Amino acid sequence: MITRMSSLFLRTLREDPADAEVPSHRLLVRAGYVRRVAPGGYSWLPLGLRVLRNIEAVVREEMAAIGGQEIQFPALLPREPYEATGRWTEYGDSLFRLKDRKGADYLLGPTHEELFALTVKGEYSSYKDYPVVLYQIQTKYRDEARPRAGILRGREFVMKDSYSFDLDDDGLAKSYQLHREAYIKIFDRLGLDYVIVAATSGAMGGSASEEFLAVAPTGEDTYVRSTESDYAANVEAVTTPAPPAQPIEGKPEAQVHHTPNTPTIETLVDFLNSADLGRTFTAADTLKNVIVKVRQPRTEDWEILGIGIPGDREVDLKRLEASLEPLEVSLLEEADFAANPFLVKGYIGPKALQDNGVRYLVDPQVVTGTAWVTGADKLDHHVVDLVAGRDFTPDGTIEAAEVREGDASPDGKGTLVAARGIEIGHIFQLGRKYADAFGLDALGADAKPIRITMGSYGVGVSRLVAVIAEQHHDDLGLVWPRAVAPADVHVVIAGKDEAVFAGGEKLAAELDAAGVRVFLDDRKATPGVKFADAELIGVPTILVVGRGLANGVVEVKDRASGNREEIPVDQVVAHLTDLVGR
Ligand code: ATP
Ligand code: MG
Repeated sequence: MITRMSSLFLRTLREDPADAEVPSHRLLVRAGYVRRVAPGGYSWLPLGLRVLRNIEAVVREEMAAIGGQEIQFPALLPREPYEATGRWTEYGDSLFRLKDRKGADYLLGPTHEELFALTVKGEYSSYKDYPVVLYQIQTKYRDEARPRAGILRGREFVMKDSYSFDLDDDGLAKSYQLHREAYIKIFDRLGLDYVIVAATSGAMGGSASEEFLAVAPTGEDTYVRSTESDYAANVEAVTTPAPPAQPIEGKPEAQVHHTPNTPTIETLVDFLNSADLGRTFTAADTLKNVIVKVRQPRTEDWEILGIGIPGDREVDLKRLEASLEPLEVSLLEEADFAANPFLVKGYIGPKALQDNGVRYLVDPQVVTGTAWVTGADKLDHHVVDLVAGRDFTPDGTIEAAEVREGDASPDGKGTLVAARGIEIGHIFQLGRKYADAFGLDALGADAKPIRITMGSYGVGVSRLVAVIAEQHHDDLGLVWPRAVAPADVHVVIAGKDEAVFAGGEKLAAELDAAGVRVFLDDRKATPGVKFADAELIGVPTILVVGRGLANGVVEVKDRASGNREEIPVDQVVAHLTDLVGR
């Protein structure tokens, strides 16, 4: 069927939407692909829906190729299964919760591990039934703290979520590998530039976990890779190599010094170096104590938590939050300091924290025997040579310090370089957490129950529309890769005279008959308006039918390169069917 611009439900915009921060958002709105309804809620207009469906088709083909079977769950779900796994609470404020008319609790599914596990338990019972991979392409709901950039981070979005069910760890490893390969095929077919990085498993438990990040300077995720090896990880998953513990014996005694006006690391280091202490200090010799408060989601009471990191680094809030998941984290307010007078701002040390029962977690570099300059819990005072394992004993370690370019790679090979990306997929060996919650067992050959082990695998299908746009656009508009474009050829009738119109109609009909997906700009608008819209909409090939027709030629323009070619009108259908691979 030919899509006629004269009747297509589409109005392109001249102006960028005021709230658009990133190119994909700007262009998808201007070109009439999506329209905003609410924060993080967007409608799909005809062009946007086509691209979305094209992406879904690629995902379906590759899921089918690894034996995935498609099913579909409701988005509106009862509370009980999520209560059983703890996620009703752990999901915190990101979960949309609601009540029905009888007062029963419901939620809008943020992901569906519970339902898949329960459904497999309901249908399967024997070891002979396994393994199985099930998936859906379905709308998810998350009350994101910061919906952003249009469909890139929505509160309602489309995800492909699949789940593997295996009898043992080897089986799970195989299912995971199959998904990994399927994802590589999907993202290659979609024309994406992406990296595969190690990820945290967070509150989900489980072991192996990797993310697929589309490379994009506008991305919210930061990842690092080694200059010397194939190590690559989301910064949230980077583990700080711990130096070997040092002997405590022979370390000088801790000494408290009067250090007036040294509330910052910089002022402290300057002061120490101008005092006559017999050695030079750097920020890395100081232990900075950052105090935050944490609480279980959906509870009232905050617990104060001390974090000790080397003074040459800042706390990375995303790393801190990832380490503490599912706890909610907040910075201290003035009222918290007032309520806890032992916290002497700028001079907080491990001692007051430990004396007052505050949990104290330190950077993995703070090993037994290391000596630190840190707060002495008294205005204008610091303590020098406070030794870990002798003068203070942390309650554990935490990955909260920023990761920097040039840091040693955790695998011991090379140093780290950093870049930004957008998460497009996540593959994850869940293990038995959900099977345990629901008692999902298969009866073995020996009639003994076997606990099933699960994997969970997500693709951000609607986000991909934006991510592809983010990687494929120019100053004039969108430039879709052929695999997802809303059409193959955009025919622009450039001219008012009847012969040109008739010629455009005829070519469009012939292309359509040859299986090419055609847009036909048959509007009574100026060629300038039509060209601008064609560039903005981003169909990969533009066919201009204009004055040349009288001399038997039309122009074929490649949207991506801008190259133009004159083609004899009687050859252009064969040329284009060849080009678009129909
Ligand atoms: P993010 O870190 O970006 O919030 P996530 O870790 O919460 O992602 P998963 O729970 O693993 O993501 O979901 C699987 C996939 O769904 C993600 O890889 C991403 O592509 C997509 N996705 C997650 N949240 C959103 C959202 N709010 N809007 C659009 N797509 C999303
Ligand atoms: Mg998220």
